[in-house]
Amino acid sequence: MLTNFSYIRPKSLKEAMKNLSAQGAGLHAGGTDLLGCLRDHVFEIKKLVSISGLKELKGINEIPGNGFRVGALTTITEVAENPMVNKHFAALAQAAREVASPQLRNQGTIGGNLCQKPRCWYYRGEFYCLRKGGNMCFAVAGENQYHCIMGGGPCFIVHPSDIAPALVALDASVRVTGPKGSRSVPVEKFYVLPSEDVRRETVLRPGEIVTEILLPTASGTHSSYRKVRTRASWDFALAGIALVLRFNGDVVANARAVLSGAAPIPWRSREIEVAITGKNLDPDVIA
Ligand SMILES: Cc1cc2nc3c(=O)[nH]c(=O)nc-3n(C[C@H](O)[C@H](O)[C@H](O)COP(=O)(O)OP(=O)(O)OC[C@H]3O[C@@H](n4cnc5c(N)ncnc54)[C@H](O)[C@@H]3O)c2cc1C
Repeated sequence: MLTNFSYIRPKSLKEAMKNLSAQGAGLHAGGTDLLGCLRDHVFEIKKLVSISGLKELKGINEIPGNGFRVGALTTITEVAENPMVNKHFAALAQAAREVASPQLRNQGTIGGNLCQKPRCWYYRGEFYCLRKGGNMCFAVAGENQYHCIMGGGPCFIVHPSDIAPALVALDASVRVTGPKGSRSVPVEKFYVLPSEDVRRETVLRPGEIVTEILLPTASGTHSSYRKVRTRASWDFALAGIALVLRFNGDVVANARAVLSGAAPIPWRSREIEVAITGKNLDPDVIA
């Protein structure tokens, strides 16, 4: 059963921020992750501040000469289907298409996808684990076949988003607005390892809202996102990779490779980047 909370749907970003400053307030976008967390008592909220009516946080547009902007409330379906995204940022469009099911993509937003909570079954279940303020990670000696293989400790969550690794590979930033003003954070620096702070997943400060995602111009690059999951139907990544390459003739001049499903944050693999840069991508190099 859900614990009672009050509900407010502000008409402006300013009003949303004011309401979010209240003790126990929580932000709601599409609700596809948040409501599950509340129902399962992963955490509690006293006041639910829904930003879903803020039109200025919706839509995708070109910033002439300076890349593209995706509003945080743009649905994942809109990202997946947008012709500009498909033309310039194939990895992002492909990652968006790999997220969950059509219904969840229609309701879930890109901002919510980046800020969703991890899927560790101990964290989501009735276990008072480190991430909830307890004193142990139950995955260490427990059922951990889907936990992280890189970057873990003292907690071993896997970062759940397909979109975030694509954004890191594309060198995107998020624009964040809060009580102390606005700032831009590269998506690569947006996530926090458990060894830095086991109680939070992002650098967001209390009351801060992701308002938009900024993608630098990607002309001359090729990009893709591929994902492996345990079943053919919708599921989180068992492993995945976002790859952005710039070629000089047939040779890789520049590479950014980011793994999903492997670590508590989107995991940039410098090893892959070094291994393929300066090479012709023949089957041996790819293997
Ligand atoms: C069954 C299922 C399968 C799924 N499979 C996948 C998958 O394969 N790949 C994948 O990537 N995802 C998957 N997801 C996650 C899904 O993509 C997210 O639930 C969705 O993107 C969240 O968006 P939302 O707008 O509904 O966020 P909400 O549920 O409203 O919010 C999620 C969290 O983010 C915070 N938040 C939301 N928007 C902002 C913002 N603008 N600024 C700051 N904080 C914010 C909220 O406070 C909340 O804590 C799955 C989810 C479900 C339920």
